[in-house]
Amino acid sequence: MRIAILSDVHSNLAALQAVLRQAEAAAAIDGVWCLGDIVGYGAEPAETIAELRLRPLTAVSGNHDLAAIGAIDAEEFNPVAAEAALWTAEQLSDDERAFLGALPPTLGVGSFTLVHGSLRAPAWEYLLDAEAADAHFALQTTPYGLIGHSHLQFWAEEREGRDATFHRAGDGTRLGLGKGRLIINPGSVGQPRDGDPRVGYVLYDEAAATVIWHRVAYDIAATQKKILAAGLPDFLAERLAMGR
Ligand code: ZN
Repeated sequence: MRIAILSDVHSNLAALQAVLRQAEAAAAIDGVWCLGDIVGYGAEPAETIAELRLRPLTAVSGNHDLAAIGAIDAEEFNPVAAEAALWTAEQLSDDERAFLGALPPTLGVGSFTLVHGSLRAPAWEYLLDAEAADAHFALQTTPYGLIGHSHLQFWAEEREGRDATFHRAGDGTRLGLGKGRLIINPGSVGQPRDGDPRVGYVLYDEAAATVIWHRVAYDIAATQKKILAAGLPDFLAERLAMGR
């Protein structure tokens, strides 16, 4: 079984298609696990939802998905994110709203637990330090946790009686499973924030018991044009080229 693990797609259709093209280049994948924030920021929420639903999809909800359906108040966002959330809400059909509304906050799939932020605060927490990782591990009942939200590629390793350690991942980073409990972040498909504008994701190979982080280039200029044409804030287009 080969699974594309991705997060924070943020209505970026070209980025999603680039990821799927690469993941499926060698062989068909058996499904997509999405860690939330399917929509928000980008100009193609409906198209992005449709593309994801073409394959067997297992997904949890993120804060931007909840804002787009009015389940959380966009006023809790910064002004740019709030404007994008309100714009996104206007684009969605009843069916797309129902799809987003049915996404659970956490989900167990075999040895994995899927959540957007952390198990302590599923939609909101940026899990970026040992304290947050240890609190998450205390709630994680499976060997592996899959998280997104920070748009950064890394893994954290649980250590008995000591703080969890963090490890940055990048294009081609390969990690063998089976040695201990982990938290894995595939980075962001739709809006990378580590200075590298290429989209990030992870490919899980069950038979090889590995996860591999990847980065993929896509047509940023065309995506920026769509954001500007939609009347979304300029900054949402500009940041894609900076990877910020
Ligand atoms: Zn996000």
